Amino acid sequence: MATISFDNVTKRYGAKTAVDRASFEIRDNEFFCFFGPPLSGKSTILKLILGLETPDEGEIRIDGRLINHVSPAERNVAMVFQNLALFPHMTAGENVRFPLVERKVAPEKIAGRVAAVAEKLHITHLLHKLPAHLSGGERQRVAIARALVRDPVAYLMDDPISALDARLREETRVELKRIQQELGHTLVYVTHDQEEAMSVADRMAILENGVIRQIDAPLSIYDKPASSYVAGLLGSPAMNMLEIESANGPAAASGALRLDPARVPNGAVGIGIRPEDLKVGAGESGQVRVFEVEPLGGHTVVTLDSGAVKMRALMRGQPAIRPDSLVSLACDPARMHFFDRAGRALSHSEFR
Ligand code: ADP
Ligand code: MG
Repeated sequence: MATISFDNVTKRYGAKTAVDRASFEIRDNEFFCFFGPPLSGKSTILKLILGLETPDEGEIRIDGRLINHVSPAERNVAMVFQNLALFPHMTAGENVRFPLVERKVAPEKIAGRVAAVAEKLHITHLLHKLPAHLSGGERQRVAIARALVRDPVAYLMDDPISALDARLREETRVELKRIQQELGHTLVYVTHDQEEAMSVADRMAILENGVIRQIDAPLSIYDKPASSYVAGLLGSPAMNMLEIESANGPAAASGALRLDPARVPNGAVGIGIRPEDLKVGAGESGQVRVFEVEPLGGHTVVTLDSGAVKMRALMRGQPAIRPDSLVSLACDPARMHFFDRAGRALSHSEFR
């Protein structure tokens, strides 16, 4: 169990800065996610934690101890294999023992360690089985047991379930979250899937091109994204981004949303509205044309043609809205996000 911290850590590959002055502190027992698009530096951060890469600048600490030049073995951080893969020709028990056998741990110690970890993960009754005879969830527990058998201070996973099909991914992430809560171990998790990050993380760091843009609990970031970049990464459908027509101070937003200029912060050039915050009204006053309707059963996505941009609204259930009809739009100003020219979020406090 451990805290892991970066203080202004930079890692370059030639001219490419893979990780750019990253600072964070992962707490003890935390399920911490790094989330960002491909090539944003996620795997490099894990390699820096593991000790497979050395930073060019900055300080890496585990439990407060500077470990920039400490070997991977001495750091005692465990990597869980991609797809939580097990050796198919070995029983679950042999899989779990493997890291200890490989490290030439004394046989009399191995049995005790395996038994303890197996009990912790509720897989004692599965140890004699081959992976092919285990369910997906059982295999995960075995894979995690194999990582934990060394008694690492933290364990890391790099996009562990991205190769699974969608339904299995959903089941797997629930299971992972559950296991992490039971174990209470520090888990550092990388994903490029926003829904996965949102669903499992206690806190997450959002990366853009090697730079950490925001660190917080998923819902805090969702509700208060620090920038239009972060806002656009979280949520499906994505946040609607509108330009405020006049760049100089308060003005009306493009399209049919009426904005009280007094409620627009100074310097705002863009407005973000989550699809679930966009209220669609069918009625005579409607001025916005419905472009397309996607009925998804439990909810419906309505795409609106509001002149310059298409906006999307997420509605509950199956509203009676037809393509090409005219509707009205509304949004509670308190639910709007305002961004300046640089994409930085502006505080609502100016008008609250
Ligand atoms: P992610 O895991 O988010 O996809 P990576 O950490 O793998 O991103 O990569 C971040 C950046 O660093 C990318 O531009 C990638 O091309 C570069 N990079 C990563 N590893 C190496 C390496 N061994 N040699 C050169 N460039 C690398
Ligand atoms: Mg990667």
